[in-house]
Amino acid sequence: MTMSRVPRFMHTAVNGHPEFTFTDVFVTDADVLGEVGQGYELTKEWFTDERLMIAARTVGAAERALELARDWAVRREQFGQPISSFQLVQGMLADCAAEIAVHRAYTHQVAWEADQPDTDRKTLHAKASTAKLAASEAAGRVVDRCVQIFGGRGYDRGYPVERMYRELRVDRIWEGTSEIQRLIIANELIKRGTGALQMPTH
Ligand SMILES: Cc1cc2nc3c(=O)[nH]c(=O)nc-3n(C[C@H](O)[C@H](O)[C@H](O)COP(=O)(O)OP(=O)(O)OC[C@H]3O[C@@H](n4cnc5c(N)ncnc54)[C@H](O)[C@@H]3O)c2cc1C
Repeated sequence: MTMSRVPRFMHTAVNGHPEFTFTDVFVTDADVLGEVGQGYELTKEWFTDERLMIAARTVGAAERALELARDWAVRREQFGQPISSFQLVQGMLADCAAEIAVHRAYTHQVAWEADQPDTDRKTLHAKASTAKLAASEAAGRVVDRCVQIFGGRGYDRGYPVERMYRELRVDRIWEGTSEIQRLIIANELIKRGTGALQMPTH
């Protein structure tokens, strides 16, 4: 087993995400995770958890970016007044807050459903995809607006929103791209109807 490459990704990850190559690797029976041939099922379980974690992480990052942008907007003065007094800046702040509120609530809802023993796991899989798709795409829009509110400083590596802008991009790619999440959601809708993706009423 060799570490074949450590790609220089856009974000700043502590562990570096190296690529490994496996050559003639023998796995003893004791080291098999789950059962042979059942890897896909294990992966699906992991995807449900990890996609929910991505939804939570991206909502959290969006909240932090908005906090920074709001604090900047009330401090930074242009034309003799704080930029927060300009309605176009207020619109960006409000859009960020609204997107965060909605995706935070949906992520909590699906996380709660994941904890219920009677939740249908197939439906949950699609709901986790919905949460991941919606929250990661919204966080991208939020941090983009926050960079805009910082103006030239938003593009400066000395300010944290610049890093957040780069770091959030991968959340629309890994653990299944946004396109793959859309396929999962559409597949569930087509197979089980729109009711399958709604919140339980009890
Ligand atoms: C920093 C980083 C860390 C990673 N860590 C891990 C890890 O720890 N473990 C791991 O297993 N993987 C890891 N990955 C891989 C990651 O999960 C994949 O990059 C991701 O799933 C996309 O696959 P791909 O790169 O092969 O893109 P492709 O599959 O080549 O996709 C390219 C484009 O085509 C689109 N596309 C592909 N198929 C379809 C389709 N059927 N319909 C519509 N559009 C489609 C995609 O949405 C995308 O826009 C990591 C990636 C990155 C960037």
